[in-house]
Amino acid sequence: MSSVQQAASSEPRKYQLFIDGKFVDAESGKTFATPNPATGEPLAEVAEADKADIEKAVAAARRAFEGKWGRMSARERGRLLFKLAQLIEENAKELAELETADNGKPIRESLYIDLPQVVENFEYFAGFATKIEGETIPVSGQFLNYTLREPVGVCGQIIPWNFPLLMAAWKLAPALAAGNTVVLKPAEQTPVGAMELARLIQEAGFPDGVVNIVPGFGETAGAALASHPDIDKIAFTGSTEVGKLIAKAAADNLTKVSLELGGKAPNIVFADADIEQAVNGAMMGIFFNQGQVCCAGSRLFLDERVKDEFLEKFKEKAEKVKVGDPSDKATQMGPQVSSEQLERIKSYVGVARAEGATVFVGGESPVLDEKFQKGYFFQPTIFSEVKNQMRVAQEEIFGPVSCVITFKDEEDLIRQANETIYGLSAGIWTRDITRAHRFAREIKAGVVWINTYNMFNAASPFGGYKQSGYGREMGKHAIDLYTQVKSVWVDLSGKPIGWFGK
Ligand code: NAP
Ligand code: MG
Repeated sequence: MSSVQQAASSEPRKYQLFIDGKFVDAESGKTFATPNPATGEPLAEVAEADKADIEKAVAAARRAFEGKWGRMSARERGRLLFKLAQLIEENAKELAELETADNGKPIRESLYIDLPQVVENFEYFAGFATKIEGETIPVSGQFLNYTLREPVGVCGQIIPWNFPLLMAAWKLAPALAAGNTVVLKPAEQTPVGAMELARLIQEAGFPDGVVNIVPGFGETAGAALASHPDIDKIAFTGSTEVGKLIAKAAADNLTKVSLELGGKAPNIVFADADIEQAVNGAMMGIFFNQGQVCCAGSRLFLDERVKDEFLEKFKEKAEKVKVGDPSDKATQMGPQVSSEQLERIKSYVGVARAEGATVFVGGESPVLDEKFQKGYFFQPTIFSEVKNQMRVAQEEIFGPVSCVITFKDEEDLIRQANETIYGLSAGIWTRDITRAHRFAREIKAGVVWINTYNMFNAASPFGGYKQSGYGREMGKHAIDLYTQVKSVWVDLSGKPIGWFGK
């Protein structure tokens, strides 16, 4: 029988906290409801962790780190991660359905993008467990000097709601491969996937306390985790605003921090680009996951010479995007994650008009069937006549809203593209390879896509420049975030130290 419950059951599901290998109620007994964003109906009732539960979870993670897990071989850790990847794959359909019910993303994305990448990340880091090595250093004199690469310890991980399971995978997989233990706080909007993952973690046979999952609110559970003195490392993905709070809280204990924050990525189309492809790339850049993507290509820079041709095609395609029931395989865009996010996006329509931009496509909630009238849907939207200094071009809207800005030449473009507090990602569409690589050097961003957009692989690093954060997730760079280096000196001369005399 499948370990994951069916998404379709009509009763709201119930979840407890996962602490020390067991499912338990919150100390306070409190719970919170998480709705299905497509209908507004309750999907699940979830135990609400706060400070007291964080204390328990951190203590359990510490015991596990000092205990069985700390002594486990890299091979055994790798095997457990492989086992988990396998269980996720076996349950991928049910997990994808739940992810869609909890977050609102179209099932074709949950099933064919999110879940395969979750599995890929666990597999990639499962293989990495046995490849984490120290070095021998050629120091002067009669010494052997070598390094040990050791886990950091107990890690607090706080994740957002836009890719609930995938963000859990990006965080958990490298931390566990490197031998750390974890307390993970999912976003309040989307706790379901992480709680199902907890069942699979238990089933895979991880020792008690290695992974603890504590859904709850940012201001209580999240803040308690970020400021906990017995946390060795805190990893956060979410808004730049909260990222700063995390860094401040961590500073009191000098807890190590990695941050993956917001973005306002330039997606750039030069006149020599394959326009058809670039239009598809612009769509992928801003409508994928309802635009709730930190690396979304939300500033679309068009070469003035192709602006009209491009916009005509972009409009035609944007108006054809199928918005609606996310559980339908034909649906291309589901609802936004919450009514708060929907309201936030709507407020930017007013901001755009007030600033003198044009609402060229969309700008409203679509009219849908009765069943989805309480859902948080928004149309694919394009603002044209945007200037880079406008708020809509500088602030993260985090919705399916493309802001079109024009440019004259490459110099003008680079200047505008870099005029932002963010630096997570960038895209460029051109047939000129020299220009493409020059751009890759000149743009201040952690990821650059050339004639493609939103491509990811577990082996390729991801993270931000400037206020988009610090640290790189995925690939071997993620292992750096979750290990620390110890330098060991051994005297090979056998002679007494002469310095202070005999
Ligand atoms: P957020 O507040 O930054 O939430 C991210 C995570 O941090 C959640 O788990 C949240 O818990 C937690 N959190 C919130 N306040 C905290 C605190 N004081 N201490 C510790 N943890 C805390 O993001 P949001 O409110 O969900 O979305 C707001 C905006 O953030 C979006 O509109 C978007 O611009 C941006 N965002 C960016 C990303 C990204 O991938 N870069 C992802 C999501 C959102 P709760 O869920 O309980 O609040
Ligand atoms: Mg929040």
